[in-house]
Amino acid sequence: MAEVLVYVDHVDGAVRKPTLELLTLARRIGEPVAVALGAGAENTAAVLAEHGAVKVLTADAPEFAEYLVVPKVDALQAAYEAVSPAAVLVPSSAEGKEVAARLAVRIGSGIITDATDLEAGDEGPVATQSAFAASFTTKSRVSKGTPVITVKPNSAPVEAAPAAGTVEALSVTFGALATGTKVVSRTPRESTGRPELTEAAIVVSGGRGVNGAENFHLIEDLADSLGAAVGASRAAVDAGWYPHTNQVGQTGKSVSPQLYIASGISGAIQHRAGMQTSKTIVAINKDAEAPIFDLVDYGVVGDLFTVVPQLTDEIKARKG
Ligand SMILES: Cc1cc2nc3c(=O)[nH]c(=O)nc-3n(C[C@H](O)[C@H](O)[C@H](O)COP(=O)(O)OP(=O)(O)OC[C@H]3O[C@@H](n4cnc5c(N)ncnc54)[C@H](O)[C@@H]3O)c2cc1C
Repeated sequence: MAEVLVYVDHVDGAVRKPTLELLTLARRIGEPVAVALGAGAENTAAVLAEHGAVKVLTADAPEFAEYLVVPKVDALQAAYEAVSPAAVLVPSSAEGKEVAARLAVRIGSGIITDATDLEAGDEGPVATQSAFAASFTTKSRVSKGTPVITVKPNSAPVEAAPAAGTVEALSVTFGALATGTKVVSRTPRESTGRPELTEAAIVVSGGRGVNGAENFHLIEDLADSLGAAVGASRAAVDAGWYPHTNQVGQTGKSVSPQLYIASGISGAIQHRAGMQTSKTIVAINKDAEAPIFDLVDYGVVGDLFTVVPQLTDEIKARKG
């Protein structure tokens, strides 16, 4: 069976959920071989094996932490040359997309970004993408070289599928460009205790209808009752009601949760561009004609100041 490289996103050995989702998709195409780089890479092996990795190629070197993405591309290329895989799958984070794009250029392959599903095909894996604010769903495959595909978080379930997960050290020689851009400092972001916006299974977002920073606690309370991340429209962010890092949309973050709840958001095309691939979309808006209602699975026409606290209380009550 053909091997499929899966680029592992982890923090000091703790594997992030989108990588486990990639393993589910990789198993549809072939045998997953994981590539884990940096500090704690070897500690990823157990969980990767549990989810289907037949092999885990690991490498650690100061270059991975001290420089931007090029050392990682060197390592992924080394893994590609060692394995000759049928495809290379990478999580669709900002860093993942840069690593994938650079690898594709180096190996002369086509690349598909932001896939939301993946299936085996006679002529190579077929990726699903969502385009033009979810107006179109496209299916494509790479026609040149080994397909390099980045996949959005929450595109597949995490499934247990125990495999050997044999750890092998990957030998990497860094090229001249690897040390071109040095990381000079790192400032950890203050933790909110909520999941990362781009990876969260549930996102609750607020827009101009929230009408002030002082009211955003309503959105946060609903989010916390569901264990969700908090998002915001650009109107809310530009008004200074919520941090820019939480903006969802064309010029903000792209999210693809199982459930997206939009409160007081009209559904402008630029907002939709960042949340259109959410599996289930719920909107709360007092205007029955708001464009967001064209997109939703469930809509509540009502005042968010009434509906959102009721919803939060009901969820808390049901959770006991
Ligand atoms: C180049 C460009 C890039 C952009 N990028 C982004 C982006 O990344 N993300 C983004 O979000 N926008 C982006 N925008 C802005 C976008 O066009 C919209 O202006 C913005 O999304 C509107 O935000 P909103 O829905 O919160 O506000 P509005 O469009 O003003 O909608 C507010 C909604 O709240 C409802 N409402 C008001 N009060 C209540 C209440 N009490 N209860 C319930 N509902 C209520 C109203 O009926 C209305 O539908 C971009 C624009 C441009 C030109």
